[in-house]
Amino acid sequence: MGRGTGMRMLMNSGRTYKQGEQLYHKESQEYSEQTSLCFISPIDLFRLDIEEGENVEIETATGKTVFRTVASQDVVTGEIFLPCGPYANFILPPCTHSTGAPDFKTLEVEVRPTEREPVSAWDLLEAEGGLRYDSPPEGCPTRSPEGDKTVADVLCPLCGCVCDDIELKIHDNRIVACENGCLLCSAKFLAKNRLISPIKKTGGRWEKISYEEAVNYTADALVEAERPLLFGWSGTYGEAQCIGVSIAELIGGVIDNCSSECHGPSIMAIQEVGHPGCTLGQVKNRADVIIYWGSNPIASHPRHMSRYSTYTDGFFLDNSFRNRTVIVFDVRKSDTAKIADEFIQIKSGGDYAVFSALRAIIRGKEDVIPKIVAGVKKEDLIRISKIMLCAKFGTFFTGIGLTQSRGKYKNVRNAIELVDELNRHTKYTLTPMRGHWNVYGTNQTFTYMTGYPYAVDFAHGVAYYNPGETSAIDMLSRKEVDACVIIGSDPGAHFPRACNEHLATIPTIVIDPFPIMSTAVATVHIPVAMTGVDAEGAAYRMDAIPLWMKKVMEPTQPNDAELLRRIYDAIKEKKSVTETIGKNACTIDSTSFITREMMHAAPGTGESRYNTVVPGRTLHHTHRNETGAFL
Ligand code: SF4
Repeated sequence: MGRGTGMRMLMNSGRTYKQGEQLYHKESQEYSEQTSLCFISPIDLFRLDIEEGENVEIETATGKTVFRTVASQDVVTGEIFLPCGPYANFILPPCTHSTGAPDFKTLEVEVRPTEREPVSAWDLLEAEGGLRYDSPPEGCPTRSPEGDKTVADVLCPLCGCVCDDIELKIHDNRIVACENGCLLCSAKFLAKNRLISPIKKTGGRWEKISYEEAVNYTADALVEAERPLLFGWSGTYGEAQCIGVSIAELIGGVIDNCSSECHGPSIMAIQEVGHPGCTLGQVKNRADVIIYWGSNPIASHPRHMSRYSTYTDGFFLDNSFRNRTVIVFDVRKSDTAKIADEFIQIKSGGDYAVFSALRAIIRGKEDVIPKIVAGVKKEDLIRISKIMLCAKFGTFFTGIGLTQSRGKYKNVRNAIELVDELNRHTKYTLTPMRGHWNVYGTNQTFTYMTGYPYAVDFAHGVAYYNPGETSAIDMLSRKEVDACVIIGSDPGAHFPRACNEHLATIPTIVIDPFPIMSTAVATVHIPVAMTGVDAEGAAYRMDAIPLWMKKVMEPTQPNDAELLRRIYDAIKEKKSVTETIGKNACTIDSTSFITREMMHAAPGTGESRYNTVVPGRTLHHTHRNETGAFL
């Protein structure tokens, strides 16, 4: 094969540690550099006749763009790994196979050498119809009336671990040091690039506007729209989510959250076969076999292993590092796989087959298993199943490697059925590795209020749920949506190109403390106080434990709930709604939001307790979980 000739390869995209570190600095050159990498095996570099560091153009039916190569022994030949972000999603087809989640994994692509250089992330967003926002960082609009101080036991508003032992040092009205957290946590707490005032896209440039104008613009856009969409919510707290649901009901719109593109398929599987879950405290104190399947916590949840699994001793488990067995199943040798006791490398798209093989072996039917299943030798499967069966308490942590590859929710269903099989012999549980700090909370809040965990449509006056039809990526790629509010999420970086191209043609309002990739496709960006810094509220950790996110400073901007309430009131006024609206579970007028007094976190323990009685309503006792079942 000569230089310039392309190769058909399989593409997987996912989190890298360096990409995660730049999540709140997406306007930076470092973010562009880290998300435009292509990890490829040295053999494939040789086949393409290029050296590491040279560039490749990657093309699908949707589009093409340029990536810089990084030689990696961790990726098998014939496959490439791309960090998740605007580059991988620029070439991603929006098809979700009726699940809401597109094929971020196991996507066929054409890879060919090129002399061209990768463009910047803003360039990509402009190619999708957006407008870059590259004004110099404006700083941090926070105040510390008590002066300099150190605050202990702060909760981290980044990933689903919601670590509760962060210590922040405050000097001169801003956070200057962050102890105990991982690098992703520090990068968020120490970020100095918050947006100070609302901005509006006018005549090809950004102009500052007042909060009043921004609220009016948002209310007008939502009232005039026939098919409005409210998307995101996993980066905000329960009270704001409640108001969001009430706005969706008031305008007859669709409200969807980030789980529709990440762990929505896990929820679909749980709705089919149940959820054998437990708290992270149970895992820490009891689990002697830990299985990470399609997840790489070192990149996505950096302290998960040190707080809950590999490196922490439990009440019933001394010397955890020696006495726990950690097994990783993945398509590439991730950083987590490198420190595991056992690593089983599966061919891309082969998870379902491996779950089925393990179920058969545990049932005593190993004679029906072929010599190799999805690239895994039969003897390895038998050996691993023996380790699984010897556990006193085993736990599966399943990642988006299962939900975003072929099979989607059927992969997770098969994983749960493997857990069921193992529970005939010993004790096993399964916990999805939820990404955003409050993405689990979105499912809890939405289900509590509407009966459904995500993708809820109020167009007919009652809540209706059908992933694939009412999920954000499907609606945007079909160009159904005619106004969109984005909050606590960044589809500009994480949605397929077709969705962003449509967002750039309609009134799109972004509500976020930081300039993000979605800012480019927005018409208005409204900055708000940052939860965990100058705003507080309720969040659910990945194991459904509710926690109260503290604020450590005083805000100078409205928080999410205050801003949404103003938008709600403006819509009500424009629609001349006077009576209490709401045919569904509850509305803003009847909801008593979760309050600080209801929750008594025990900082540093990873546990929390909460009271549940709210005037006129007993919140958690009449609470449905993400499957819709009453608790
Ligand atoms: S593991 Fe997650 S929650 Fe914990 S400090 Fe790191 S980013 Fe924050």
